Amino acid sequence: MEHLNFPNKLSLGIFPTPIHKLNNISRILGCNVFIKRDDMTGIALGGNKVRKLEYLLYDAQNKGAEVVFTTGGAQSNHAMLTAAACSRLNMTPILVLKQKGIMGKKGNLYLEDLMGTDVRFVNTDSYDVIYEEMDRIGTELGKPFYKIPCGGSNALGTIGYVDCVREIKTQGMEFTHIICAEGSGGTMAGLALGAKLFLPGTRVIGMMVDSDPFAEITVGLMNEAAAILGAKADATTADFDLYDLCGPGYAIPSEEGNAAVRMMAKEEGIFLDPVYTGKAFAGLVDLAKKGAFQAEDRILFLHSGGAGGLFAQDI
Ligand SMILES: *Cc1c(COP(=O)(O)O)cnc(C)c1O
Repeated sequence: MEHLNFPNKLSLGIFPTPIHKLNNISRILGCNVFIKRDDMTGIALGGNKVRKLEYLLYDAQNKGAEVVFTTGGAQSNHAMLTAAACSRLNMTPILVLKQKGIMGKKGNLYLEDLMGTDVRFVNTDSYDVIYEEMDRIGTELGKPFYKIPCGGSNALGTIGYVDCVREIKTQGMEFTHIICAEGSGGTMAGLALGAKLFLPGTRVIGMMVDSDPFAEITVGLMNEAAAILGAKADATTADFDLYDLCGPGYAIPSEEGNAAVRMMAKEEGIFLDPVYTGKAFAGLVDLAKKGAFQAEDRILFLHSGGAGGLFAQDI
């Protein structure tokens, strides 16, 4: 393989995260289902954003930032994990969140309250408005600041999941498929690029839980991340599969997603969340029931976290 230039990163999480078989789920679905435990990444309640933050917060520190802004929905797991990581690094997090969804001191907002995080809400649907608000607050504070986009999904954050595929390869197991939730795109793009570079026999499937144009977003992030690594990706939509699991809308639980959360809890004692991993796992169950997998296939489901969101609303 060509030489890859991985950028520098901080060591924040606990890696490698375990991979193990889901014996009861595999028996029920008639195929071999494994789980990658990125709900155990070692910051706060764990989750996929830790891999991205190792790169993003290195960059923030390297650029001399004292204040770190990020954004997301009111119950953003990414925002909570950013705040937790910044606390450890003695940087000041400021979360500028969309004022829509589950408010009150529940779920991730409760955890942010415990951390004493500066959380602000903007009543808008536009992230551009939020990024402008960050500039305004940062300028007013007069301290060097760094802005992390929604979900940490820029090219640098995406490298975190290229790294994850490299990690999966070193864990010595082979998979025909890797399945993940796609919310802002970085995780899926990193896995798809990583598979192209390290595990070309593995098909990456994204379960879309929001209604953005993910085919385009994924290809764009794959090519931009490849450019950082000094690799030629020539990514196209043929590199991955996407399925729409958004249901009634982003962050609004679906019946199928809730059933999948309950199935994983009952059969394996593992807790998914209703916004991302429950819906993504519902997509896996649906594909298995439609006969999309062979009996000898080995499917790796990425548990991307979300425990904070699990306690924001009853399902
Ligand atoms: C953010 C998030 C995702 C989606 O990852 P993206 O890189 O934003 O697509 C999946 N699961 C959980 C629990 C998340 O918090």
